[in-house]
Formats: sequence, structure tokens, C-alpha cells
Amino acid sequence: MNILQECQGASRVAITGHVRPDGDCVGSCLALYQYLRKKMPQAQVRVYLEKPAEIFACVKGFDDIDSQCEDTDPYDVFFVLDSVPERMMEPAGKLFDKARKTINIDHHISNTGTCDVFRVVPEASSTAELIYELIDRESLDADLAMAIYIGIIHDTGVFQYSNTSPRTMEIGADLIRWGFDFPRLILETFYQRTYLQSQVLGRVLLESVRFMDGKCIVSCLDRKIMDFYEVEHADLDGIVNHLRNIKGIHCAVFMYQTGVLEYKVSLRSDEWVDVSKVAAFFGGGGHMRAAGCNMKGTFHDCVNNLSLHIKEQMESRLSVQEDGDRQE
Ligand code: 5GP
Ligand code: MN
Repeated sequence: MNILQECQGASRVAITGHVRPDGDCVGSCLALYQYLRKKMPQAQVRVYLEKPAEIFACVKGFDDIDSQCEDTDPYDVFFVLDSVPERMMEPAGKLFDKARKTINIDHHISNTGTCDVFRVVPEASSTAELIYELIDRESLDADLAMAIYIGIIHDTGVFQYSNTSPRTMEIGADLIRWGFDFPRLILETFYQRTYLQSQVLGRVLLESVRFMDGKCIVSCLDRKIMDFYEVEHADLDGIVNHLRNIKGIHCAVFMYQTGVLEYKVSLRSDEWVDVSKVAAFFGGGGHMRAAGCNMKGTFHDCVNNLSLHIKEQMESRLSVQEDGDRQE
């Protein structure tokens, strides 16, 4: 796929990503935005995203993000990045359906591709990595490099998760040549938490419960507690990783309340469980080691339903292991 060829002749181009945009979503949307502004100065380019966390305000183009999306005129080309079209913010969805051409760039294994043009590469660490591969190198500058770098570090846990490939590291190396302050970027957008965010993290850890012989862990934040600490969903990013990092845990579940009897669920695992399958069963998706979905019901209903699917995968793994042990 050649982005500029796909946009040839277009005078109005829009870009969007998924609801509750994370670092990869914001980084890749703003990287593509910067690139198109540079290469197609005569075209009108817009980015539609739900308001991202303030930590991303350092990325060029952040102030141009439109979170209202009151436009009604159809676009010539409409990009959806890091997401299936069904997961984009509601008002942008209506405009998306009217676009003359839709393009989907993503790395989620659960994305089966329904747009006019799509590039879904599950092996890619991040959508930002795909944007890097799709733009011409001469167009890179420090701002564009930084936007791509943010996307990559957020989806790889700063080059830690198994989705990090040698190619990801090469790209990282190429990007930091531009001289932006990457240690500070990593600290301020990935590791640092406000005091209240840290207190909530503490609370989540304190109230977590292990199940399945201590191999899984779950913790849940209800609306009352979120209101007490004055935190929103953007303040909860990364909490699930702390649950997953606990020794002996193969699958971590973090839930927070989004409505009456409604929860957003984040799943993390190691090679024991493919959580993208678990999430997909409940209408969500993601990657093998990191996935999510929305669920309805009481906290206990949700956990019971999830654990049936997690248990099934765990048991089939354990039985394979036992067979192996017997044969030895
Ligand atoms: P997180 O748990 O950080 O929200 O998401 C983990 C991964 O799963 C991310 O790649 C995210 O895009 C994906 N994901 C989370 N929730 C959903 C969902 O409801 N639907 C789909 N398709 N993917 C999701
Ligand atoms: Mn991503």
C-alpha cells in the first residue's frame, strides 16, 4: 500500500482511531496527520479522536485533535488506525460510512479487514511501526519521529513485550537519531503516575483476588471509587500490567465500571493463555497477550464468564504438559 497514491486527488482526508485512545493510537494518528499535512499541503486533513490523556500533549498536532466531530460533509479518504471500524468514536463513525474511500491500518490479530483498503499486520509491534514502514524516509523529522516513537513504546512496554522484533528495535534506533528527549518521553508518558493515579493503583493491587490455584488474578474498580479518587479511564492505563507482573500469574484481569452493570475489561497473559480469543468471545479483541472487551452484568457474572474461557485454555495446556511428563 502506498499512502500518497491512495490519497491522490483527495482534497479532504480524515484520520481516526479507537475509543479511549492509547499511546499507539494517538502516536500513529498524529504521525499520519503530520505526514499528510507535509505531503499534501493543499488538502484539508482532520484528526478525530476522543480527548487523549494530557501526557500526549507534547506530540505535534495534539491541539488540532477534534473530539466533537460536528462536520457532516463526506471525506474523500478516511483512515482508521489501530482499530477495527466498529471501535471508533461514535460521531466519526457516521462520517466514515459516507467517505468515498476507507483505509484501515492496524496490527490487531482480531481485525479481519472490512475497509476498501486495509493493511493489517499482526506481527507488527504497533500501528506506529506500520506508519513508519509506510511513509517515505525523507519526510521524517524530529516531530514525526517522536510521534511514531511514542506509539511504539506504549504498545511494546518500552521494547519489553514479546511483540518487540529486531525490526522494532531498528526502527527505534533510527527514530532516536532525531535527537528528541526520549528518556524524558518514556518517563513522562509511560512510567510516571500522578499521586492519585498511584493511590488507585495501590487500591487495585490491595483488593485483587487470585483464582485458579493462584494462576490468575482479578481486580475491579467501581464507579464510586473512581469518583472518590477523581480518576477517569485515561488514569487507569497500565494498571493491568502490574497485576500481570506478579510472580506465578499467567493471566490478569482488570475491570472498571463504565455504567450500571457495565464494565470495561483488560486482559493480560503469558504464553499460557491467548487472551485475544477470550476477548473476541465477548465481542472485544486485541492481541494474544493483551486484549480487552466490554461486558454487562455484575462483577461476579463477568468474572465467572471470563474464567470459564481462561480455564478451558489453561486446562488444555496443563493436560498437554501432563501427557509430556508421562512420556518422559
Ligand atoms: P487495553 O486492555 O489496554 O484496553 O487493551 C489491550 C489491547 O486490546 C489493545 O491493543 C486494545 O486495542 C485491544 N482492545 C481493548 N479493548 C478492546 C475492545 O473492546 N475491542 C477490541 N476489538 N479490541 C480491544
Ligand atoms: Mn496498537
